[in-house]
Amino acid sequence: MFRNTLALNGGAPIRNHFLPYSRQQIAPEDIAAVETCLKSDWLTTGPFLNAFETQLATISERRYCAGVSNGTAALHAAYHAAGISDRDEVIVPAITFAATANAALYLNAIPVFADIAPDTILITPDTVAPLITPATKAIVAVDFAGQPCNYEALSGIAAEHNLILIADCCHSLGATYNGRPTGALADLAVYSFHPVKPITTGEGGAVVTDNADYYERICRFRNHGITTDHHQRQKENKWHYEMVELGFNYRLSDIQAAVGLSQSNRLQSMLARRTEIAHQYDQAFSGYAQLSPLRTRPRIDHSYHLYVIRLQVDHLSEGRDTVFQALRAEGIGVNVHYLPVYRHPYYQQLFKSFTPNCPVADKIYQEILSLPIYSAMTDNDVQDVIQAMYKVLEAFQV
Ligand SMILES: *Cc1c(COP(=O)(O)O)cnc(C)c1O
Repeated sequence: MFRNTLALNGGAPIRNHFLPYSRQQIAPEDIAAVETCLKSDWLTTGPFLNAFETQLATISERRYCAGVSNGTAALHAAYHAAGISDRDEVIVPAITFAATANAALYLNAIPVFADIAPDTILITPDTVAPLITPATKAIVAVDFAGQPCNYEALSGIAAEHNLILIADCCHSLGATYNGRPTGALADLAVYSFHPVKPITTGEGGAVVTDNADYYERICRFRNHGITTDHHQRQKENKWHYEMVELGFNYRLSDIQAAVGLSQSNRLQSMLARRTEIAHQYDQAFSGYAQLSPLRTRPRIDHSYHLYVIRLQVDHLSEGRDTVFQALRAEGIGVNVHYLPVYRHPYYQQLFKSFTPNCPVADKIYQEILSLPIYSAMTDNDVQDVIQAMYKVLEAFQV
């Protein structure tokens, strides 16, 4: 077979070893930190958690940080702290990971889906403002792919309507807007430390804020709704504790925090590598008619959690799904982020016949592909992705 015969059609693939779209980077220091923790007195809610929280608060230019068991728990805790409850409306992007909307449902609130800008996949003041009603309680901005939203405009709208602005920064730890970290730009900001995210703890999450009241509510919520933790009780020689509301066990263990603290020391170098890879893609695809990368907004530093391109379907004989299959056959782990949340069967049933009006999200969903990007990728891996893209897109060129 010729090398330019698509693997989909029986040709030789560009890669024999599948390249994932993302994966963690674990260093010897991370492993050493786990060992130190396992040999210490505390396996949960101990000194590593304190140190990791302090580090995240510093990175985020925030007063408070509470570590929790995952990013979804972080959203749940942040929405709860913001006072979101029965029948409140929460504006979320049409294109995001389902958890952004699900966390509103956990609190019997109603996710209201805002359309996104076609060139950035971010919500904008224009897509959010018309959705505000007397029942609206909060706006949740998602820094899709690691690109910060227009927080200036969104916080303006939030202030004008007395709404709480929450930032889902699960993609954007380390990203900045106007020189400030994304975690500093809303009333509450949320991180995830899942293995594909900028830093990992295996599973993990955190909420950062400057508001002492929110912080206290989150600490209570992650610990069954109990007012004091065991350290405080030990210090005060007390056994008595009080559960004052219904909370959860959403704690982050010290073992996880040890990994997170160690990972966070390498955040800048891991981001620098992701940026390098993104620039190699930018160069390879500039002026390429069959695709366009998402636009990068001015005055931002991107964290490149994802590298998303839009296929120019007018220039291709096949749609996104076939391009996806062809690239997978070449050994390239492309992915799609994300199906508009309200298109999931659960939401279709929940909303019955009602479908949110997000024409841009519905159209863009048919065109997007995420290319592999993560700090442990080698230059050869990057070249394989580029060659596979050329091979597939040229085969489908019209
Ligand atoms: C990953 C992610 C979450 C959920 O985080 P988990 O740690 O997997 O629970 C929420 N929102 C967005 C945008 C995410 O990418």
